[in-house]
Amino acid sequence: MNESRLLRGIGVSPGMAWAPALVIRLDFPDVPDRTVEDSEVENEVARLHAAVRFVSGNLNALRERVLERAGVEESRIFDAQIMMAQDPDFLASVEQLIRKNRFAAETAYEFKALELRQMFSGSGSMQLRERLADLNAIQMRMIYRLLGKKDEDPWAIAPDEHAIVVAHELSPGLTVQLDREHVVGLLSEEGTRTAHAAILAHSLGIPAVMGVAGALDRVRNGMMILLDGQSGNVLLDPTPEELDAAKTRVSRRQRFEMQLESVVDKPAVTPDGVTITLMGNVDLPDEIDAAVRFGAEGVGLLRTEFLLNGRTSMPTEDEQTDYFRRVASAFPHHTVIIRSYDLGGDKFPAAFSAPSEPNPFLGWRSIRVCLDHPEFFRDQLRAILRAAYGRDVQLMLPLITSVDEVLRVREMLGEEAAALRRAGVRSAETVPVGVMIETPAAVVIADRLAEVSDFFSVGTNDLTQYTLAVDRGNARLVDRFLPHHPSMVRQLRSILAAGSAAGLPVSVCGEMASEPLDALLLMGLGYRRLSVAPPALPTVKWLVRAVPAPEAAAAAETALAAQHPAGVLDVMRELAGRHADLRLLDPEGNVARPLMGR
Ligand code: PEP
Ligand code: MG
Repeated sequence: MNESRLLRGIGVSPGMAWAPALVIRLDFPDVPDRTVEDSEVENEVARLHAAVRFVSGNLNALRERVLERAGVEESRIFDAQIMMAQDPDFLASVEQLIRKNRFAAETAYEFKALELRQMFSGSGSMQLRERLADLNAIQMRMIYRLLGKKDEDPWAIAPDEHAIVVAHELSPGLTVQLDREHVVGLLSEEGTRTAHAAILAHSLGIPAVMGVAGALDRVRNGMMILLDGQSGNVLLDPTPEELDAAKTRVSRRQRFEMQLESVVDKPAVTPDGVTITLMGNVDLPDEIDAAVRFGAEGVGLLRTEFLLNGRTSMPTEDEQTDYFRRVASAFPHHTVIIRSYDLGGDKFPAAFSAPSEPNPFLGWRSIRVCLDHPEFFRDQLRAILRAAYGRDVQLMLPLITSVDEVLRVREMLGEEAAALRRAGVRSAETVPVGVMIETPAAVVIADRLAEVSDFFSVGTNDLTQYTLAVDRGNARLVDRFLPHHPSMVRQLRSILAAGSAAGLPVSVCGEMASEPLDALLLMGLGYRRLSVAPPALPTVKWLVRAVPAPEAAAAAETALAAQHPAGVLDVMRELAGRHADLRLLDPEGNVARPLMGR
């Protein structure tokens, strides 16, 4: 393959697409500096507010559309946008400029809007930078409206033929407004998996690749593009042979999916009778059904950050209790592991206003935030205790680096359990408390942590990032983000040894367990419980059922001695290839993907 035609980005919504490019350049229109007579000032203020009402109305219509086509969680994105459009402080500052300088509404708005955009883009806070696409979209709508460009709707993109939309940045509004009949893929220079547009593309089932630096310089309008929303690869001007190969892969994949359906109800047992418990990771409520459908035996990681999506205040104890009960009742015969808030780092929902930090991944995040904010952490602990009444619900703590953190949580949990008892609220007396092993510190003191933990679960996403000093969200470092790096393989072995010596269940809930070849490596190392992204469950099970455990163990021994990450994968590929048709897996088998927080 000619490398220069290959662009790499972040696969944010899976699926293959091929079509001519439709390049859209949504730029801020030029706004002339215009002043008005004194007598017109109030009219300009009224025009400003009328435009806010108009844009809010449009956003509300988009919200309804998303509610219908995607779901209530996704529709909240537009609630947040409407709040941004109606921000009273910002509008008051625009109004003041109109009154003080007799600026026309669009001139004053553009002036203040630019200030805000610069503030967002120059901010050290990922929360603000991430929302820049939303802000740009709202401001652009406002300026178009104030300039009276009524006939131009730059968001109404309706190609006649199939097309892949290519843009610098995709806003959520643009994404839902796209004509689904004809837009078969999305490609943008900006954006990560947590961009609102990425979440929507995923819910709407449009294959998408984001974070493709320099795409607009390389892609011409009408140029044929082949895009893989899983690996993040984009091939420009594919040859007929390359297109045929892609089509063959897609139809092979469809046949494979039919084959996978037949394993969903079967146990995850190796040919020699070793059982692997395959649980599901659940980030969003719609994944509860997916986890059940794909045969998850419980939930090994229930992320709770989504509870803050599109909100301005923290979720209440009752809201959380309801949600946790809903998940637990979907798995009446299995364990549900709820992870306490993992805020900060890469997860900045609006309701959690964090100070901007130069280095958020090494900053005030996760368990540190919870311990420093006992008021909302205690709400969550109570909700977990209430949901655990009569059910197998457990608590898992992220980013632990010391024994004291676990002891402090246990203390708080005991206090909240006692308070609930005193108040006569039905709740469990306690819940098992597990620790995520996702920092090198936790690996090194795993024997000590085992003394205060009921189980371990390895967070390979963060452990990889902190071990290899590779930012998990940086698209440029995607080839260096390697969970199967020899340094990781050795740590995985020692974590399991420390946990098992103390008699603890030890699982893996990082994305590594969802990568088929990596999952085999984990099985070979001796892991017997994996928590997997629901859509990956059947593939992992298919491999588990094909590969005998002693052969996996022998391969893991060889992998432990490997010099390079590639050497580790070669060993696993060779093992899997002996028992299964590897062409059925994703084209690249086992590519480390950049792991954005969700
Ligand atoms: C991990 O770090 O591996 C993990 C499972 O947690 P998250 O991806 O939510 O940080
Ligand atoms: Mg983590």
